[in-house]
Amino acid sequence: MLTVHDLTTPALLVDVDALDANLADMAAALPGPRLRPHVKAHKTTSLAARQAAAGHTGFTCATVREVEGMAAAGLGADLLLANEVLDARRLGVLDARVTLAVDSEETLRAAVDGGVREVLVDVNVGLPRCGIAPSRAGWLADRARAAGLTVRGVMGYEGHLMMLDDVAERGRLTQECMERLLAAHADVGGEVVSGGGTGTYALNTWVTEVQAGSYALMDTAYTAAGLPFRQALTVLGTVISVTAPAGGMPGWAVADVGLKALGMDHGNPAVPDAQVWFCSDEHLTFAPDAPVAVGDRVRVVPAHVDPTMAMHERVHLVRGDEVLDTWAVDLRGW
Ligand code: PLP
Ligand code: MN
Repeated sequence: MLTVHDLTTPALLVDVDALDANLADMAAALPGPRLRPHVKAHKTTSLAARQAAAGHTGFTCATVREVEGMAAAGLGADLLLANEVLDARRLGVLDARVTLAVDSEETLRAAVDGGVREVLVDVNVGLPRCGIAPSRAGWLADRARAAGLTVRGVMGYEGHLMMLDDVAERGRLTQECMERLLAAHADVGGEVVSGGGTGTYALNTWVTEVQAGSYALMDTAYTAAGLPFRQALTVLGTVISVTAPAGGMPGWAVADVGLKALGMDHGNPAVPDAQVWFCSDEHLTFAPDAPVAVGDRVRVVPAHVDPTMAMHERVHLVRGDEVLDTWAVDLRGW
Protein backbone atom coordinates (compact mmCIF):
# COMPACT_ATOMS: atom_id res chain seq x y z
CA MET A 1 0.00 0.00 0.00
CA LEU A 2 1.35 3.41 -0.99
CA THR A 3 1.08 6.02 1.77
CA VAL A 4 1.82 9.72 1.97
CA HIS A 5 5.06 8.82 3.80
CA ASP A 6 6.38 7.39 0.50
CA LEU A 7 5.86 10.66 -1.39
CA THR A 8 8.56 13.14 -2.27
CA THR A 9 7.64 16.55 -0.85
CA PRO A 10 6.27 19.04 -1.56
CA ALA A 11 3.36 16.97 -2.88
CA LEU A 12 -0.16 17.99 -3.68
CA LEU A 13 -2.86 15.96 -1.91
CA VAL A 14 -6.59 15.78 -2.48
CA ASP A 15 -8.73 14.23 0.25
CA VAL A 16 -11.11 12.05 -1.76
CA ASP A 17 -13.94 12.12 0.77
CA ALA A 18 -13.87 15.91 1.06
CA LEU A 19 -13.76 16.20 -2.73
CA ASP A 20 -16.67 13.82 -3.24
CA ALA A 21 -18.72 15.57 -0.53
CA ASN A 22 -18.11 18.92 -2.28
CA LEU A 23 -19.11 17.48 -5.66
CA ALA A 24 -22.26 15.92 -4.20
CA ASP A 25 -23.27 19.06 -2.28
CA MET A 26 -22.81 21.27 -5.34
CA ALA A 27 -24.64 18.80 -7.62
CA ALA A 28 -27.56 18.90 -5.17
CA ALA A 29 -27.59 22.71 -5.17
CA LEU A 30 -26.96 23.18 -8.90
CA PRO A 31 -27.77 19.92 -10.70
CA GLY A 32 -26.63 19.02 -14.21
CA PRO A 33 -26.42 21.99 -16.59
CA ARG A 34 -27.14 24.53 -13.81
CA LEU A 35 -23.41 24.22 -13.09
CA ARG A 36 -20.72 24.58 -15.73
CA PRO A 37 -17.65 23.74 -13.61
CA HIS A 38 -14.60 25.90 -14.23
CA VAL A 39 -11.60 23.64 -14.86
CA LYS A 40 -9.02 26.38 -14.31
CA ALA A 41 -9.44 25.74 -10.58
CA HIS A 42 -7.90 22.25 -10.84
CA LYS A 43 -6.50 21.83 -14.38
CA THR A 44 -7.00 18.08 -14.07
CA THR A 45 -9.08 16.04 -16.52
CA SER A 46 -9.41 13.15 -14.05
CA LEU A 47 -11.12 15.51 -11.63
CA ALA A 48 -13.27 16.95 -14.43
CA ALA A 49 -14.38 13.40 -15.25
CA ARG A 50 -15.59 13.09 -11.64
CA GLN A 51 -17.57 16.33 -12.07
CA ALA A 52 -19.06 14.91 -15.27
CA ALA A 53 -20.04 11.76 -13.35
CA ALA A 54 -21.76 14.08 -10.84
CA GLY A 55 -23.94 15.29 -13.71
CA HIS A 56 -22.17 18.34 -15.14
CA THR A 57 -21.14 17.67 -18.73
CA GLY A 58 -20.55 21.25 -19.88
CA PHE A 59 -17.34 22.89 -18.65
CA THR A 60 -15.80 26.34 -18.41
CA CYS A 61 -12.17 26.87 -19.45
CA ALA A 62 -9.81 29.84 -19.15
CA THR A 63 -7.16 28.94 -21.75
CA VAL A 64 -6.93 27.37 -25.19
CA ARG A 65 -4.77 24.65 -23.64
CA GLU A 66 -7.54 23.76 -21.18
CA VAL A 67 -10.04 23.43 -24.04
CA GLU A 68 -7.62 21.23 -26.01
CA GLY A 69 -6.93 19.00 -23.03
CA MET A 70 -10.61 18.58 -22.19
CA ALA A 71 -11.38 17.67 -25.81
CA ALA A 72 -8.50 15.17 -25.88
CA ALA A 73 -9.81 13.57 -22.68
CA GLY A 74 -13.23 13.00 -24.26
CA LEU A 75 -14.85 15.71 -22.15
CA GLY A 76 -15.61 18.05 -25.06
CA ALA A 77 -19.42 17.80 -25.20
CA ASP A 78 -19.85 21.52 -24.42
CA LEU A 79 -16.75 23.60 -23.64
CA LEU A 80 -16.99 27.33 -22.97
CA LEU A 81 -13.74 29.27 -23.24
CA ALA A 82 -14.85 32.08 -20.94
CA ASN A 83 -12.00 34.31 -21.99
CA GLU A 84 -10.87 36.53 -24.85
CA VAL A 85 -8.35 35.09 -27.33
CA LEU A 86 -6.77 36.69 -30.38
CA ASP A 87 -5.52 33.43 -31.89
CA ALA A 88 -8.26 30.79 -31.98
CA ARG A 89 -6.71 28.56 -34.65
CA ARG A 90 -6.19 25.66 -32.23
CA LEU A 91 -9.89 25.76 -31.26
CA GLY A 92 -11.53 25.35 -34.67
CA VAL A 93 -9.89 21.99 -35.37
CA LEU A 94 -10.97 20.23 -32.18
CA ASP A 95 -13.32 17.28 -32.01
CA ALA A 96 -15.49 19.11 -29.45
CA ARG A 97 -18.27 21.65 -29.13
CA VAL A 98 -16.44 24.90 -28.42
CA THR A 99 -18.08 28.20 -27.50
CA LEU A 100 -15.84 31.24 -27.26
CA ALA A 101 -16.35 34.48 -25.33
CA VAL A 102 -15.99 37.66 -27.40
CA ASP A 103 -16.05 41.30 -26.31
CA SER A 104 -14.71 43.19 -29.36
CA GLU A 105 -14.57 43.13 -33.15
CA GLU A 106 -11.01 41.81 -32.84
CA THR A 107 -11.96 38.79 -30.75
CA LEU A 108 -14.95 38.19 -33.04
CA ARG A 109 -12.62 38.21 -36.04
CA ALA A 110 -10.32 35.76 -34.23
CA ALA A 111 -13.26 33.40 -33.67
CA VAL A 112 -14.20 33.48 -37.35
CA ASP A 113 -10.59 33.09 -38.51
CA GLY A 114 -10.03 30.22 -36.08
CA GLY A 115 -13.01 28.25 -37.34
CA VAL A 116 -15.01 28.64 -34.12
CA ARG A 117 -18.75 28.52 -34.82
CA GLU A 118 -20.42 29.50 -31.54
CA VAL A 119 -19.85 32.48 -29.26
CA LEU A 120 -21.13 34.15 -26.10
CA VAL A 121 -21.01 37.92 -25.80
CA ASP A 122 -18.89 38.67 -22.72
CA VAL A 123 -20.42 41.60 -20.85
CA ASN A 124 -18.70 43.84 -18.30
CA VAL A 125 -20.93 43.61 -15.22
CA GLY A 126 -18.62 45.56 -12.88
CA LEU A 127 -15.30 43.72 -12.59
CA PRO A 128 -12.71 45.84 -14.39
CA ARG A 129 -11.48 43.05 -16.63
CA CYS A 130 -12.90 41.69 -19.89
CA GLY A 131 -16.40 42.28 -21.23
CA ILE A 132 -18.13 44.77 -23.50
CA ALA A 133 -20.35 47.54 -22.06
CA PRO A 134 -23.90 46.20 -21.60
CA SER A 135 -25.32 48.81 -23.97
CA ARG A 136 -22.95 47.61 -26.76
CA ALA A 137 -23.62 43.86 -26.38
CA GLY A 138 -26.50 43.77 -28.86
CA TRP A 139 -24.38 45.49 -31.46
CA LEU A 140 -21.61 42.88 -31.09
CA ALA A 141 -24.17 40.05 -31.30
CA ASP A 142 -25.47 41.49 -34.58
CA ARG A 143 -21.90 41.66 -35.91
CA ALA A 144 -21.33 38.04 -34.88
CA ARG A 145 -24.49 36.81 -36.62
CA ALA A 146 -23.59 38.81 -39.73
CA ALA A 147 -20.24 36.98 -39.70
CA GLY A 148 -22.03 33.62 -39.70
CA LEU A 149 -21.55 32.77 -36.03
CA THR A 150 -24.18 31.33 -33.72
CA VAL A 151 -24.65 33.54 -30.66
CA ARG A 152 -25.60 31.30 -27.74
CA GLY A 153 -26.18 34.15 -25.30
CA VAL A 154 -24.18 36.19 -22.80
CA MET A 155 -21.72 35.75 -19.97
CA GLY A 156 -20.73 38.19 -17.25
CA TYR A 157 -18.48 37.41 -14.32
CA GLU A 158 -19.00 39.29 -11.03
CA GLY A 159 -15.54 38.27 -9.78
CA HIS A 160 -15.01 41.36 -7.61
CA LEU A 161 -17.87 40.22 -5.34
CA MET A 162 -16.82 36.62 -4.65
CA MET A 163 -15.18 37.22 -1.29
CA LEU A 164 -17.17 40.14 0.09
CA ASP A 165 -17.46 39.45 3.83
CA ASP A 166 -21.04 40.71 4.14
CA VAL A 167 -23.06 37.98 2.42
CA ALA A 168 -26.21 40.12 2.20
CA GLU A 169 -24.18 42.83 0.47
CA ARG A 170 -22.61 40.19 -1.79
CA GLY A 171 -26.11 39.13 -2.82
CA ARG A 172 -27.36 42.69 -3.31
CA LEU A 173 -24.41 43.66 -5.51
CA THR A 174 -24.69 40.38 -7.43
CA GLN A 175 -28.25 41.35 -8.30
CA GLU A 176 -27.04 44.74 -9.55
CA CYS A 177 -24.41 43.08 -11.73
CA MET A 178 -26.87 40.53 -13.08
CA GLU A 179 -29.41 43.23 -13.93
CA ARG A 180 -26.71 44.64 -16.24
CA LEU A 181 -26.20 41.18 -17.71
CA LEU A 182 -29.91 40.57 -18.23
CA ALA A 183 -30.30 43.97 -19.91
CA ALA A 184 -27.55 42.96 -22.33
CA HIS A 185 -29.17 39.56 -22.79
CA ALA A 186 -32.44 41.19 -23.85
CA ASP A 187 -30.54 42.73 -26.78
CA VAL A 188 -28.33 39.73 -27.55
CA GLY A 189 -30.79 36.83 -27.35
CA GLY A 190 -29.85 33.15 -27.12
CA GLU A 191 -30.49 30.61 -24.38
CA VAL A 192 -27.37 30.98 -22.26
CA VAL A 193 -26.79 33.43 -19.40
CA SER A 194 -23.50 32.33 -17.84
CA GLY A 195 -21.75 33.78 -14.77
CA GLY A 196 -21.17 33.35 -11.08
CA GLY A 197 -18.54 31.50 -9.12
CA THR A 198 -18.03 29.70 -5.85
CA GLY A 199 -18.59 32.89 -3.84
CA THR A 200 -21.99 33.55 -5.41
CA TYR A 201 -23.17 30.05 -6.38
CA ALA A 202 -26.06 30.20 -3.91
CA LEU A 203 -26.80 33.91 -4.43
CA ASN A 204 -26.77 34.25 -8.20
CA THR A 205 -30.26 33.13 -9.20
CA TRP A 206 -30.29 35.13 -12.45
CA VAL A 207 -27.89 33.10 -14.60
CA THR A 208 -28.89 29.90 -16.40
CA GLU A 209 -25.54 28.33 -15.46
CA VAL A 210 -22.95 29.01 -12.74
CA GLN A 211 -19.24 28.84 -13.59
CA ALA A 212 -17.91 27.81 -10.15
CA GLY A 213 -14.61 25.94 -9.92
CA SER A 214 -12.97 26.45 -6.52
CA TYR A 215 -15.79 24.64 -4.68
CA ALA A 216 -14.37 21.22 -5.55
CA LEU A 217 -11.04 21.62 -3.73
CA MET A 218 -11.44 24.86 -1.70
CA ASP A 219 -8.87 27.12 -0.05
CA THR A 220 -8.57 29.21 3.11
CA ALA A 221 -9.77 32.38 1.37
CA TYR A 222 -13.08 30.83 0.34
CA THR A 223 -13.48 29.17 3.75
CA ALA A 224 -12.98 32.61 5.35
CA ALA A 225 -15.67 33.96 3.00
CA GLY A 226 -18.10 31.51 4.61
CA LEU A 227 -18.48 28.92 1.84
CA PRO A 228 -19.80 25.60 3.12
CA PHE A 229 -17.49 23.31 1.13
CA ARG A 230 -14.78 21.16 2.75
CA GLN A 231 -11.07 21.75 2.45
CA ALA A 232 -9.94 18.95 0.11
CA LEU A 233 -6.60 20.34 -1.08
CA THR A 234 -3.37 20.40 0.92
CA VAL A 235 0.32 20.51 0.10
CA LEU A 236 2.24 17.83 1.97
CA GLY A 237 5.57 19.04 3.30
CA THR A 238 8.44 17.72 5.40
CA VAL A 239 9.82 19.53 8.44
CA ILE A 240 13.45 20.16 7.45
CA SER A 241 14.62 22.27 10.39
CA VAL A 242 13.50 23.02 13.95
CA THR A 243 14.72 25.78 16.24
CA ALA A 244 13.84 25.39 19.92
CA PRO A 245 12.68 28.35 22.04
CA ALA A 246 15.66 29.99 23.75
CA GLY A 247 16.37 33.07 25.82
CA GLY A 248 12.78 34.24 25.72
CA MET A 249 12.59 33.79 21.93
CA PRO A 250 9.81 31.55 20.64
CA GLY A 251 10.76 28.47 18.67
CA TRP A 252 9.86 27.72 15.09
CA ALA A 253 9.92 25.00 12.47
CA VAL A 254 10.56 25.04 8.75
CA ALA A 255 8.82 22.91 6.11
CA ASP A 256 9.84 22.47 2.46
CA VAL A 257 6.66 24.11 1.10
CA GLY A 258 7.64 27.54 -0.16
CA LEU A 259 5.98 30.03 -2.41
CA LYS A 260 7.04 27.96 -5.45
CA ALA A 261 4.65 25.26 -4.26
CA LEU A 262 1.77 27.57 -3.26
CA GLY A 263 -0.38 30.26 -4.82
CA MET A 264 0.30 33.20 -2.48
CA ASP A 265 -1.76 36.03 -3.98
CA HIS A 266 -4.49 35.49 -1.37
CA GLY A 267 -1.94 35.50 1.45
CA ASN A 268 -0.12 32.97 3.55
CA PRO A 269 -1.22 29.35 3.70
CA ALA A 270 -2.42 27.81 6.96
CA VAL A 271 -0.86 24.98 8.94
CA PRO A 272 -3.25 23.23 11.37
CA ASP A 273 -2.35 23.82 15.05
CA ALA A 274 0.35 26.33 14.16
CA GLN A 275 0.96 30.00 13.37
CA VAL A 276 2.42 30.58 9.93
CA TRP A 277 5.14 33.25 10.01
CA PHE A 278 6.19 33.57 6.38
CA CYS A 279 7.00 31.77 3.14
CA SER A 280 10.13 32.17 1.05
CA ASP A 281 11.03 30.44 -2.20
CA GLU A 282 11.43 26.91 -0.84
CA HIS A 283 10.61 27.38 2.86
CA LEU A 284 7.62 27.80 5.14
CA THR A 285 8.43 29.07 8.63
CA PHE A 286 5.80 28.36 11.27
CA ALA A 287 5.38 28.18 15.04
CA PRO A 288 3.68 24.91 15.98
CA ASP A 289 1.44 24.78 19.05
CA ALA A 290 3.06 21.47 20.09
CA PRO A 291 6.68 20.53 19.36
CA VAL A 292 7.45 18.98 15.96
CA ALA A 293 10.57 17.06 14.91
CA VAL A 294 12.76 17.15 11.84
CA GLY A 295 11.30 14.64 9.39
CA ASP A 296 7.69 15.12 10.49
CA ARG A 297 5.15 15.65 7.75
CA VAL A 298 2.77 18.63 7.69
CA ARG A 299 -0.27 19.34 5.55
CA VAL A 300 -0.23 22.95 4.41
CA VAL A 301 -3.57 24.51 3.40
CA PRO A 302 -3.30 26.90 0.43
CA ALA A 303 -4.95 30.33 0.46
CA HIS A 304 -5.71 30.16 -3.28
CA VAL A 305 -6.51 26.90 -5.02
CA ASP A 306 -6.05 27.74 -8.73
CA PRO A 307 -2.42 28.94 -8.83
CA THR A 308 -1.44 26.24 -6.32
CA MET A 309 -2.74 23.51 -8.64
CA ALA A 310 -0.99 25.09 -11.62
CA MET A 311 2.40 24.80 -9.91
CA HIS A 312 2.27 21.02 -9.55
CA GLU A 313 2.64 18.31 -12.19
CA ARG A 314 0.58 15.74 -10.35
CA VAL A 315 -1.88 15.43 -7.50
CA HIS A 316 -2.33 12.46 -5.18
CA LEU A 317 -5.80 11.31 -4.21
CA VAL A 318 -5.70 10.26 -0.56
CA ARG A 319 -7.89 8.87 2.19
CA GLY A 320 -6.12 9.44 5.49
CA ASP A 321 -2.50 8.46 4.83
CA GLU A 322 -3.32 6.05 2.00
CA VAL A 323 -2.59 7.17 -1.57
CA LEU A 324 -5.45 5.82 -3.72
CA ASP A 325 -4.48 7.28 -7.07
CA THR A 326 -2.22 9.84 -8.72
CA TRP A 327 -3.62 12.22 -11.33
CA ALA A 328 -1.70 14.33 -13.84
CA VAL A 329 -2.44 18.04 -13.62
CA ASP A 330 -2.65 17.77 -17.38
CA LEU A 331 -4.30 21.08 -18.32
CA ARG A 332 -1.27 23.16 -17.23
CA GLY A 333 0.66 25.32 -19.66
CA TRP A 334 -0.60 27.46 -22.50
N1 PLP B 1 -15.85 32.50 -14.18
C1 PLP B 1 -14.74 33.17 -14.53
C2 PLP B 1 -14.70 33.84 -15.85
C3 PLP B 1 -13.64 33.22 -13.66
O1 PLP B 1 -12.55 33.91 -14.00
C4 PLP B 1 -13.73 32.56 -12.40
C5 PLP B 1 -12.61 32.62 -11.44
O2 PLP B 1 -11.83 33.51 -11.34
C6 PLP B 1 -14.92 31.90 -12.09
C7 PLP B 1 -15.94 31.88 -13.01
C8 PLP B 1 -15.25 31.24 -10.77
O3 PLP B 1 -14.28 30.71 -10.04
P1 PLP B 1 -14.41 30.39 -8.50
O4 PLP B 1 -15.07 29.08 -8.39
O5 PLP B 1 -13.00 30.36 -8.06
O6 PLP B 1 -15.19 31.46 -7.82
MN1 MN C 1 -9.12 31.69 -8.14
